[in-house]
Amino acid sequence: MYRLFVFLFVVPASFLLELSLEAQYNAPSQKVFTRQDTLRGSITPERAWWDLTYYHLDIKVNPSDSTIYGTNTVTYRVINPAKIMQIDLQEPLNLTGAMQNDKPLSYRREGNVYWIELADKQEPGKIYSVLLSYGGRPRISKRPPWDGGITWKKDSKGFPFVASACQGDGASLWWPCKDHMYDEPDSMLITVNVPGNLMDVSNGRLRSVVKQKNNTKTYNWFVSNPINNYGVNINVGDYTHFSEVYKGEKGPLECNYYVLKEDLDKAKIQFKQVPLMLAAFEHWFGPYPFYEDGYKLVEVPYLGMEHQSSVTYGNGFKNGYRGTDLSKSGWGLKFDFIIVHESAHEWFANSITYEDIADMWIHESFANYAESLYVEYYYGKEAGSEYVLGTRSNIRNDRPIIGIYNVNYEGSGDMYYKGGNMLNTLRQIVNDDEKWRDILRGLNKEFYHQVVKGSQIENFLSEKTGINLQKFFDQYLRDIRIPVFEFYVKGNELTFRWNNCVRGFDMPLRIYVSGNAMDISPKTMPTTIKLDSDNVTIKVDPGYYVATLNVTGK
Ligand SMILES: [Zn+2]
Repeated sequence: MYRLFVFLFVVPASFLLELSLEAQYNAPSQKVFTRQDTLRGSITPERAWWDLTYYHLDIKVNPSDSTIYGTNTVTYRVINPAKIMQIDLQEPLNLTGAMQNDKPLSYRREGNVYWIELADKQEPGKIYSVLLSYGGRPRISKRPPWDGGITWKKDSKGFPFVASACQGDGASLWWPCKDHMYDEPDSMLITVNVPGNLMDVSNGRLRSVVKQKNNTKTYNWFVSNPINNYGVNINVGDYTHFSEVYKGEKGPLECNYYVLKEDLDKAKIQFKQVPLMLAAFEHWFGPYPFYEDGYKLVEVPYLGMEHQSSVTYGNGFKNGYRGTDLSKSGWGLKFDFIIVHESAHEWFANSITYEDIADMWIHESFANYAESLYVEYYYGKEAGSEYVLGTRSNIRNDRPIIGIYNVNYEGSGDMYYKGGNMLNTLRQIVNDDEKWRDILRGLNKEFYHQVVKGSQIENFLSEKTGINLQKFFDQYLRDIRIPVFEFYVKGNELTFRWNNCVRGFDMPLRIYVSGNAMDISPKTMPTTIKLDSDNVTIKVDPGYYVATLNVTGK
């Protein structure tokens, strides 16, 4: 997903110094979490006892009355026997039945949660299924993809143009599921029945299209890899299709493109950026993570979203973000923002997935940073650096990047630009481009197709860089202050320290002493070092996201 925030004001570095050293961010006091938030955002006992193995979502999408009706078969392995199963389905949709082994089950609703009472004995290690029937008029998205729901639009010829998007709000706003990111099915079949003149495009590969007698068609899409809830999608329209085969690191990768018929010519030009994107990201991150399911780009009536193996696209076949450069460096107009940003999420979001949305930086900081790596791959290191530095003016430092755990509450939008700059800062510390690329590729190997906690990513980066990055992540992910490098020169002595930072902040830093690079290790207590000469100029490497203050005012 991509969120654009309006930039508010610039905070001068001198102002930051007036903040107390130990100023800590507190959760917004006005935010009150409810039992529904806890049910949605935590691994409840009624979720923890069963392990998802397979979903078969089988639905009929009716554009004429904006309804969805159907079933979801939930297949699972019992970890610890229990009687009550939590299934999420949001209002105004209703569950109309639950069955196991052909016997109806009783259930009770509590807001967006259904408590299903299982009748048969649940034996540990064994596989069971529950068939859930549901339907109604799902919530309509007012502002997709930021506001979850279904978008019911029409194309210029009057054909229905329908799409789902639900990150944050949850997949349970359009289908019944275990709506927590910690558990993914190993595979999934998505069966979608639509009016006969339309097509549905969902995730994975198209297994079959079945013509029904009532002038409808049923599309069967099979995802052969684990998939997170919000990654699942339906896109219904008067689509046309073209394809190509990309010769990638793991062999031939099928790329399929679905666009409205009226946009075919434009798409054939704009989507030439897909193989460029794949080449850049396979270089930086390793093989595309879903060769078995192929890669798809699907036109939708909203900006776009990282749906797994079915990236959705609504950027108007223009470069930049809706034609603008978010970095203001000029480099942002060299590529289609949605193709690059949303596809980067195949590595960071769909393959490596956050367990709790509080750690959404795992998706967005890396996808944001990936934009600059794309620029670097084609236009050189300096261009990539200009791009990432250019995005700094969008950073707000309003609240921490990490949100609040177990209540489905994400952190600041700074997870994008500040997160990207945090990773770029880390690269300066590593100061070895090959090692840095190995680390990025290593992340994608180590956590391939896994759901992870942010701390696992932090620990991996500490281990692979050989630097204890705990304070570094505390500063950039859990605090809102920009660390200030304070220094002064007296004769041939340089004195410096970190200020406006977390206790014990100890990030190594590269400075230029009259143009000569020098690596130093500032602490929060002052350090004095001797220089070769006096009358020097001191400059901090601009790749670090820090503020600088010469305390003598020079
Ligand atoms: Zn994103």
